[in-house]
Amino acid sequence: MPSTGASTSPAALADVRGRAYATLLGSALGDALGATVEFCTQSEIRAQYGVLRKIVGGGWLKLKPGEVTDDTQMSLCVARSLAAVGWSPADIAERFATWFKSWPVDVGNTCRRGIARYINHGTLTGPFNEGDAGNGAAMRVAPVALATLADSRLLERWAVEQGHITHNHPLSDAACVLVGRLIHMGCTGQPRERLRREVDDVIVQFPTFRISPYRGLSTAYVVDTMQTVLHHFLSTNSFEECLVATVNQGGDADTTGAIAGAIAGAYYGLEQVPRHWVAKLARPWCVKFRIFRAICSNARPLDTVSPW
Ligand code: MN
Ligand code: MN
Repeated sequence: MPSTGASTSPAALADVRGRAYATLLGSALGDALGATVEFCTQSEIRAQYGVLRKIVGGGWLKLKPGEVTDDTQMSLCVARSLAAVGWSPADIAERFATWFKSWPVDVGNTCRRGIARYINHGTLTGPFNEGDAGNGAAMRVAPVALATLADSRLLERWAVEQGHITHNHPLSDAACVLVGRLIHMGCTGQPRERLRREVDDVIVQFPTFRISPYRGLSTAYVVDTMQTVLHHFLSTNSFEECLVATVNQGGDADTTGAIAGAIAGAYYGLEQVPRHWVAKLARPWCVKFRIFRAICSNARPLDTVSPW
């Protein structure tokens, strides 16, 4: 039997699984926390909440406390598809379509257009579109990252393919892959410097993503979204602080929250996920996270976690 090394010992594997679960839970928590202040400015948030630290619902979607939005719902479509049939963009698109027809609480414009295209034409990708550089593909990439752990080539292909169902733009593609790679690194216990280096490498390739000086924009444009997520992830020291700082930036706060929550969940692990937030997550969603658990434990690459 080949030597597996410390990184694939049972204890390490349990840790990876915990981090994988924290990735998905973190993403849902970021969505639920941030949705309260989606499309608010920083000063509006300050005036109403001081610093928003609790999952209280409300916001423009008038959510119940702990309710999640499209970010988590579309992630769940991807996760369920992976758990049910393995890799199939057609199955993912079909689940997006079913979800879309169920009158979800919110659907982003680019996602709406892409899903309508799939419903009308059956195509799994549209042509390149200058307007497709929104954050709607990156916000749902976490399950793909977990299903491809230890295989960065597979991640690149799957992350982009799932993205193209609704978003065909190189900046969206780059963001999907970067979020996925940061999740890979977090889940396999890489140090912050390694994640930072990954961010720096992407900035060399796509200078528009540069994060210093941080411009403080947090719109749904994937560049603004990623700058906000990366800036706050790299400048805070706990899961909770990362998410609080991210969503209090306002703008597309549920989506920056969801992406930051996925990366921070992977990096900090399950122990750091605040229990008082988990307790607030609407109960049906807690049940649905069993699906997420299923993909975490079924993901074959988890058994062959390779060092970076
Ligand atoms: Mn949303
Ligand atoms: Mn959003």
